[in-house]
Amino acid sequence: MDAATKIGVVILGSGLGGYTLARELRKLDREIALTVITADGGESYSKPMLSAAFAQGKAPASLVQKGPEQMAVDLSATILVRHRIAAIHRDTKTLTLRQPDGNETSIGYGRLVLAIGADPRLYQAPGAELAKIRTVNDLDDYALWREALRHGDRVLLVGAGLIGCEFANDLAGAGFKVTMVDPAPWPLGRLLPQDLGEEMAKALAGVGVSLHLGRTVASWSAAGATLDDGGVVAFDHALSAIGLVPRIRLATEAGLKVDRGIVVDRSLRTSDPDIFAIGDCAESPAGPLPFVLPLMAEAKALAATLTGTETPLQLPALPVVVKTPCLPMAVCPPAPGAVGQWRVEGEGRDRKALFIGSDGRALGFALSGGRVSERQSLGREMPDLL
Ligand SMILES: Cc1cc2nc3c(=O)[nH]c(=O)nc-3n(C[C@H](O)[C@H](O)[C@H](O)COP(=O)(O)OP(=O)(O)OC[C@H]3O[C@@H](n4cnc5c(N)ncnc54)[C@H](O)[C@@H]3O)c2cc1C
Repeated sequence: MDAATKIGVVILGSGLGGYTLARELRKLDREIALTVITADGGESYSKPMLSAAFAQGKAPASLVQKGPEQMAVDLSATILVRHRIAAIHRDTKTLTLRQPDGNETSIGYGRLVLAIGADPRLYQAPGAELAKIRTVNDLDDYALWREALRHGDRVLLVGAGLIGCEFANDLAGAGFKVTMVDPAPWPLGRLLPQDLGEEMAKALAGVGVSLHLGRTVASWSAAGATLDDGGVVAFDHALSAIGLVPRIRLATEAGLKVDRGIVVDRSLRTSDPDIFAIGDCAESPAGPLPFVLPLMAEAKALAATLTGTETPLQLPALPVVVKTPCLPMAVCPPAPGAVGQWRVEGEGRDRKALFIGSDGRALGFALSGGRVSERQSLGREMPDLL
């Protein structure tokens, strides 16, 4: 056993990335010393539920699968909650840790795994600071968001991407008056061809969502947004869902290679041989992969590597289900920059769209309504991501 193995593995972050890795590690090794350090409360929960929980009347506590004390027992791990890492010192293999009381302390690591997620992208427009624009990216955000809303309130949702559409459907289903604004001409603009996008727009309108597509917010005030066509949308609450930015600050300051995320190789190793990264904060050789299935594959491969069997990540195409009960959807987007054209089959809500490359092969797909059940068989026909 080398020195690094004796000191053990320190995982930063207790999201799906951090905890899935910890579970995978324990399947392979009951002895290795394991510490999870997290800025949040350390509850184990499924983040995808955050955009599908309102209509089901789920309070934040009911989304918690296990608290940190139980996780510590199950994982035979030390779990430090509400502890924020302020700096990584690669020369001494130590971390500066801000404790809940604000004091700083230091802790050593043998191997370090960054599973620190991503921050919501913030909406920039004049007056944005007046509008109290919220984001919901973790359990704490969800608790504050639920506390703020009163039945029947008007919600302005900025962003009609995957997470925006899910929130819109969920909030409309819970009785809120939802207006959605996005510069794209149809919802899920980067993932769907026009026909399916327009079906999604119809379905959202059908559950009461008012859509302003092809529009942006030009300026904000405390209770209204002025759109770029001069229209005004009054609201009680504004929610932004315009994408995520991987948390790279710690890695950048530690001198690790970063680009669109913390850059890792196929073994999930950063530019430091003893530091790894997985989940939303990482940029794999296939690019950033901010979804649950890739993260699980990463955790499995990394657990094997950390316990002595170097295991490069292998990733088949991984379809994502969009949680919009008004029109179920599954998407498997082509790799960024792929050249090709959409070919759409079917009528109305039940459609299958294939993204066909220049050599005639399907490189991606989108399915709606009754065709969603084809996602797994179709997924197997798509090119591997890695
Ligand atoms: C509303 C919503 C719905 C989604 N739905 C789906 C879906 O249906 N399907 C799908 O595949 N994906 C979905 N996703 C994406 C998926 O949930 C994420 O890809 C995944 O949860 C990311 O996990 P993570 O562990 O990388 O990051 P996170 O869950 O964000 O965890 C990051 C952790 O790092 C900690 N941390 C951050 N900075 C520090 C620091 N300095 N010191 C210590 N700790 C720190 C945080 O406290 C947290 O514990 C959804 C995302 C959202 C927001």
